[in-house]
Amino acid sequence: MKVCVYTLGCRLNQCESEAIADSFSRNGHEVVDARRGADLYIVNTCTVTAKAEQKARRMIRLFSTEGQAVVVTGCYAQMAQAELEELGENIVVVPLVKKAGLLGLCAHIDETTNAGMDLLDAVRSFAEPETSVFDYAASSFSYHSRAYLKVQDGCDNECGYCRVHIARGPSTSLGRDEVVARALQLEEEGFNEIVLTGVNLTMYDHEGEGLGGMMLALIPRLKDTTRLRLSSMEPDHIDERLIEACSSHKVHPHFHIPLQSASDKVLERSSRKYSASHLEWVIEQLRKVKDDPFIACDVIAGLPAEGEEEFRQTYDFLKDTGFAALHVFPFSPRPDTALYKARDKVSERVRDERAASLRQLSESLHSAYVARQIGRRQEVLLETRRGGLWHGTSGNYLKLAVSGAPAFSSRGQIVSGIITAKDMLSVC
Ligand code: SF4
Repeated sequence: MKVCVYTLGCRLNQCESEAIADSFSRNGHEVVDARRGADLYIVNTCTVTAKAEQKARRMIRLFSTEGQAVVVTGCYAQMAQAELEELGENIVVVPLVKKAGLLGLCAHIDETTNAGMDLLDAVRSFAEPETSVFDYAASSFSYHSRAYLKVQDGCDNECGYCRVHIARGPSTSLGRDEVVARALQLEEEGFNEIVLTGVNLTMYDHEGEGLGGMMLALIPRLKDTTRLRLSSMEPDHIDERLIEACSSHKVHPHFHIPLQSASDKVLERSSRKYSASHLEWVIEQLRKVKDDPFIACDVIAGLPAEGEEEFRQTYDFLKDTGFAALHVFPFSPRPDTALYKARDKVSERVRDERAASLRQLSESLHSAYVARQIGRRQEVLLETRRGGLWHGTSGNYLKLAVSGAPAFSSRGQIVSGIITAKDMLSVC
């Protein structure tokens, strides 16, 4: 059977999708991408923006005409089950609480179709057991050379623009010993890079020790050559222990901070629990423990309460701090959120102009960052081989071609070398 797992949204969704795809490929099914046509489609949706929802509906409709069955899960599916089921007759929505049960879908399909049931009936008859959000095996993934380890789910914050905490529920964390055991298992399976993921990763907690405490326990247990990457760091829980953990050579110099705005007024209006001065502290500390790390951020243009002055504060902060990349999102009012009916909304024209100028800023910040990496040593995880060269991602998140990689190099291996051009690393 051909299976396509189509993913929208955050790294956590990617991580979950990979585990699901893996369960099919391990059982002899062919995991294909969306262009190649599949019998079974699994769509992992996102509710962060109206655009992500629109795209999900479009793809689900398309898959519904191409495949025999479409399974839809993820945050958007959680919020709009009936609406999505109406998009086609062969669509089956699996709510979030039962999403981990999808790891058993493959076995269920094999058993029931071998007994003569057709694929759609097999999917429909799949009675997902109640599962924990951490029921994902720490095993090899079918898409990537790195492993994603989900250690946290849900969020206790109620940011004014966000529906994710509504869909995912309160914060919950995988126990520290279990994190260590899963990470060691991934090492055993040959992964050299592990990405720690969560809905709000810095809200991770085990007995009051936080993400920093867990990482400080994990890092000494890992091989000297294993590397950790953090998927995303909400600023409010970044503390000294986490910074200390990040100082380890086993943590890649790549950080992603969803800061959204650098204006105290806008942050407060959006119920974000930190200030611009905390952001300054975070960036300063990360730069103290890592040599010119790649620090990217999410920023929302046109949040309520963002007047010209507030926008200028954010713009100047991003420019002066020298981020390596900005992920810019125009504010999109989401139903069920506190800011949905805000009266101090910014007009769409102004919001889009601001988004455009932030995107321009991002381009120049990124070019400046890449230019100053030339001549520096970096590690690169080998991902694909094209045109006689390996290509991969560096510790500081640059996509590079690799020249001089040792013979018999393999996918997932880490090599070290000097960056000789904006897109090239020479192994030495
Ligand atoms: S921190 Fe805020 S934006 Fe992030 S998931 Fe939680 S509520 Fe949503």
